[in-house]
Amino acid sequence: MHSAPHLRPPSIDRVLNWTAVAPLIAEYGRELVLAGARSVLDSARQAARDGAQADYTEPTLTAHLAAHLAQRNASRLQRVFNLTGTVLHTNLGRATLPEEAVDALIMAARHPCALEYDLASGGRGDRDDVVEGVLCELTGAEAATVVNNNAAAVFLLLNTLAMRKQVIVSRGELVEIGGAFRVPDIMSRAGARLVEVGTTNRTHLRDFESAIGPRCAMLMKVHTSNYAIQGFTASVPEAELATLAHASGLPFVVDLGSGTLTDLARFGLPREPTPQDSIAGGADLVSFSGDKLLGGPQAGILVGSRELIRRIKKNPLKRALRVGKLTLASLEAVLRLYRDPDRLPERLTALRLLTRPQSDIHAQAERLLPALRGALAGWPVGVTVEPALSQIGSGSLPVDRLDGWALAVKPSTRKTGVLHDIEAALRGLPVPVIGRIADGALRLDLRCLAPGDEAAFATQLAQLIPGRP
Ligand SMILES: *Cc1c(COP(=O)(O)O)cnc(C)c1O
Repeated sequence: MHSAPHLRPPSIDRVLNWTAVAPLIAEYGRELVLAGARSVLDSARQAARDGAQADYTEPTLTAHLAAHLAQRNASRLQRVFNLTGTVLHTNLGRATLPEEAVDALIMAARHPCALEYDLASGGRGDRDDVVEGVLCELTGAEAATVVNNNAAAVFLLLNTLAMRKQVIVSRGELVEIGGAFRVPDIMSRAGARLVEVGTTNRTHLRDFESAIGPRCAMLMKVHTSNYAIQGFTASVPEAELATLAHASGLPFVVDLGSGTLTDLARFGLPREPTPQDSIAGGADLVSFSGDKLLGGPQAGILVGSRELIRRIKKNPLKRALRVGKLTLASLEAVLRLYRDPDRLPERLTALRLLTRPQSDIHAQAERLLPALRGALAGWPVGVTVEPALSQIGSGSLPVDRLDGWALAVKPSTRKTGVLHDIEAALRGLPVPVIGRIADGALRLDLRCLAPGDEAAFATQLAQLIPGRP
């Protein structure tokens, strides 16, 4: 058979010696390039067998190899634009950190740091000391500790204080917080026995009172994070539960879920209970997340009485659930911002997004409208600026909505499938854009598009036009 060189596959050795492949070896290493070259050659042979015009030339194969390697070695944890309208989106990483926290995290990543080392005495320290002081100062609690997330905090407190004992909880608070966190399941895994009292919509103090017995370990209140019970309802105020628990010599424990350390009402947001409210109301232990409204890294924070925190820290499971230095460094930086609540909306990213003025978001939508219209000119759709209702997310304030603005893409024909195609195309951009399809429109809620990211966002939209790189 006499075929031109570009019609016969080269040997692997030859490919690896091509000049254009040298920079790829420098970038990815020989092993990866070797495996990549095999795979690219296999695909080329397969394509030729399937009837495609064979092309084994150096430029073509090298281009395929470079693309293959870039894709193969791309990081899996990709940055995205969260235009879903949900600010604290669990699937998109919840709170983004303020610069102060990013700096602290980088410092801790790059250098040795006094994580469990007491610089005054030169002796061993306790990693919780990094944040315990500021947590006590902000919440009014006597002591504090930190674990991997709030689910772990709840698990650890139950396992420490209620193993083989009863925990009394209102039926209206047996919540499931997305995914796998269900209060009854966590309880049984922690070895505690759940005693449900009251009804779904109404629970009274006397319900708790009559459930208290010799095997009871605590009274517990769980914040009904992601849903609201409305209408004919009754629940017992925390202070009354605390008084009742203490009269029986029991602790009163609160799982707050999303814990903000400041009154959000002062920033025009709906009020959310704070750990300091619970502590002031007599709670002996309060648990909350680090990466929900608090605006910090993933963590579970426990604040409360010195004695209960001491027992929790002695549980061997604390060692299994403890946080690393990157978490502590960034959490400390975020907590420090709360010392100056007046400047919090400028400095705490999550709060800045939640309090972004509507006029800002609207102006941004108007600025971006031409770019999106241009990019989607070839699709059978129309693009408009529309009012949007954003959500806080992560189960915070479930019924409240924040007024904002979105770019709304609507099909101009009956074919609504086009929205899914556009949604997928947006997800395929270098920085994937995540929007939301609802009520016959694909909405890109601009609340979470930082002004500094606007240009990058608009520029990459051009890639939605077929044939434009
Ligand atoms: C979110 C939440 C949890 C779980 O917190 P994570 O930090 O996500 O583990 C537990 N309890 C309540 C009430 C919550 O809202």
